[in-house]
Amino acid sequence: MRICVIGLGQMGGNMALTLQSAGFDVTGSDLFDSARQRLAEQGLPVATPDELPSCDVYLLSLPTSAQVREVIETAPGLLGLAPKGSVIVDTSTSDPVVSRELAAKVEAAGLAWLDAPVSGGPKGAATGRLGMLLGGETATIERLAPMLEAMSARYTHVGGSGSGHVVKLTNNYLCAAHLLTTAEAVAMAARAGVDPAACLAGVNSGSGRSAVSEVNFPEWILSGRFDSGFTTGLMRKDLRLARDAAERLDMPPGLLQAVVEAWHADPERPADGDDFNRIAGALLADATP
Ligand code: NAD
Repeated sequence: MRICVIGLGQMGGNMALTLQSAGFDVTGSDLFDSARQRLAEQGLPVATPDELPSCDVYLLSLPTSAQVREVIETAPGLLGLAPKGSVIVDTSTSDPVVSRELAAKVEAAGLAWLDAPVSGGPKGAATGRLGMLLGGETATIERLAPMLEAMSARYTHVGGSGSGHVVKLTNNYLCAAHLLTTAEAVAMAARAGVDPAACLAGVNSGSGRSAVSEVNFPEWILSGRFDSGFTTGLMRKDLRLARDAAERLDMPPGLLQAVVEAWHADPERPADGDDFNRIAGALLADATP
């Protein structure tokens, strides 16, 4: 299976190397020389966007739907150059409305579509242990099973095209909310004289636990390392997409708007380029005596 990975950032670069190590014929591509150069130095064959090879799979790992649309539609784009029968797999966290629109165009052009947003960060991408949420046809997933198994510890088929991106937004809304609520809860315990690590040990043996309390707090927040590889800017983008989806769906007012506002309250603290866990670090620092 010949695979072209487009977008060689924190996630795409690691996914490309993992697929290459698993024995796939992989070429990487990125808009920027520096990204291509970094992966070429690690032994990955690379191509500029103008010289994409003919592949069975084009796997996209791009910041937003705007770049996904550009790579697919802007002439010649994948719609013009991908061979019939090849599959476009969008692992980015994208806008589900745009994904459904692009999936229809891709299928009309004789290609297949799969949305496959991921969890697990650069580390999960580098070790082939991503969680993946799949939106598309069962036949496409079966065809790509060897590739998906090389990248993912657990992939879940959640529905037709766009469904993977819908579920990814719900997941990231929950993660963003857990960062705020867990920081507030730990700060409250600290004010009452309980050490944050001891508080989390208690929470993690109870029903208040989450990936944030079990992983993010010990690994990145209490340790002060803040090097998860996922930025605040990307989380803000995901929250805006979740809010837009809720508005389009006429959802009654809920907590989502408060979470979106809290994440956008101070554009410098954390800044878009900062690790996303810094929002909990800042809340904890403000509230801890
Ligand atoms: P990143 O910014 O590190 O990488 C994106 C790459 O895409 C960059 O190298 C950039 O140069 C390239 N790019 C931008 N426009 C392009 C174009 N038109 N053509 C070719 N390349 C282009 O981002 P990332 O952290 O790797 O995230 C990628 C996607 O995965 C995002 O949608 C993000 O929300 C999602 N995601 C990230 C993480 C994480 O922990 N970093 C986890 C889950 C999901």
